[in-house]
Amino acid sequence: MSLKPVVALIGRPNVGKSTLFNQFTKSRQALVADLAGLTRDRQYGDVFFENKSFIVIDTGGIGEADDGKGNIDDYMATQSYTAIHEADMVVFVVDARAGLTPSDEEIAKFLHTLGKPVFLVTNKTDGVHEASIAEFFGLGFGEPIPTSASHGKGVTSLLEIITADMPETLAENPETDGLKLAIIGRPNVGKSTLVNRLLGEERVVVFDMPGTTRDSIYIPFEREGRQYTLIDTAGVRRRGRIGEKVEKFSVIKTLQAIKDANVVVLVIDAHEGIVDQDLHMLGYALDAGRAIVIAINKWDNLSQDQKDIVKIEMDRRFHFIPWVKIHLISALYGNGVGNLYPSIHKAYDASMFKVSTSRLTQILQDAVEAHQPPMVGGRRIKLRYAHLGGHNPPVIVIHGNQTSSLPKSYQRYLENVYRDVFKLEGTPLHVEFKQNA
Ligand code: GDP
Ligand code: GDP
Repeated sequence: MSLKPVVALIGRPNVGKSTLFNQFTKSRQALVADLAGLTRDRQYGDVFFENKSFIVIDTGGIGEADDGKGNIDDYMATQSYTAIHEADMVVFVVDARAGLTPSDEEIAKFLHTLGKPVFLVTNKTDGVHEASIAEFFGLGFGEPIPTSASHGKGVTSLLEIITADMPETLAENPETDGLKLAIIGRPNVGKSTLVNRLLGEERVVVFDMPGTTRDSIYIPFEREGRQYTLIDTAGVRRRGRIGEKVEKFSVIKTLQAIKDANVVVLVIDAHEGIVDQDLHMLGYALDAGRAIVIAINKWDNLSQDQKDIVKIEMDRRFHFIPWVKIHLISALYGNGVGNLYPSIHKAYDASMFKVSTSRLTQILQDAVEAHQPPMVGGRRIKLRYAHLGGHNPPVIVIHGNQTSSLPKSYQRYLENVYRDVFKLEGTPLHVEFKQNA
């Protein structure tokens, strides 16, 4: 197992990056659907090719200034630039019809400073003489790979070349994976300290996985007879290698970790308070329906006043998720860290809970009796029965008539009833309504 590699498409505007992006992601739904506020000028997609898969980022075009040169300085300031840093490799697209331009040379210079693998693609080779591609050799990325994206030509060869060294996507194995736990949070909140603390506990046995690659951030371990896989977005394993610079934080890897986990531990730095980026990450975990535990870290050297302020902020910011357990911890000194495990289990068990259709239906009927749904057009909305539609997150599907007219407040009422009855601490609960004919 490993997180999917990330590939960035780079190049001037109009060279065919979006066309390539669409060819790569053909008919596949984007995995990373909504990255509120982060994706304004980039697009993420999932690519599946043979038994490999990766994530592609279309970074948008590198702006061209009036002088016709690539405006690298402006570019550095954009989010696309951040995207390049999140990428494991770069596909540099040039326009074979237009020939080599000063902008291409500027971009090439920049890419050479990154030290990442770069695949040079000469696009729009349809109807172009082969000799005209030769000039692109000079960019220093080896032999250009010719494509005609809009005609779908050369795309398969390009994918073969890009994925050659990528690991094969392995099937999940719940037996050995156990409970998958992702530790997420902004840079410097204490994720690696917490990971080390969780793994360093006396009762924990960490396994070295055979075939563990450099990029593997999946750490299998056992504690009191239970199997876990820790998904380490902080890069603990990769640190400390000589001369290796570890990219400490990546939104795309964090999102992948969330998607792949059963339970997410969101780490927040008490010294910094609760900031927007913390809430964004909480939002991703909630959207993904993951079980969640919050750890407010660095609770050690705070004054009483500071503690009071953080507590007020917690009440204000987290009032909409009263079912999430919040721990005050010090990863550095270990205080409160052991208490995370019971909450993690509780959240996991809640996210996987099982219940019969008859019990869910009985609870529905009791709830309706206690508090009737409103009338719509002179007819009362009827809710007939309920069944469990999924796990992690649990999905309760309620069947009835005119359910699309059910007010949000009534939907929330039912959600809360189920939450109370089943003591669903730590997991989002999705209640869906199906309209019967
Ligand atoms: P981007 O700005 O780099 O994302 O470029 P687009 O993908 O939007 O493509 C710009 C234009 O080039 C569009 O009109 C495409 O249809 C066209 N285009 C893309 N690939 C090819 C190709 O292989 N051959 C030809 N002739 N046109 C192409
Ligand atoms: P990461 O970037 O989220 O992995 O954060 P690190 O684990 O690297 O921690 C960032 C800094 O915060 C380091 O200097 C840690 O020693 C410090 N730190 C981590 N946990 C605690 C804590 O509980 N209390 C205090 N006072 N410092 C901490």
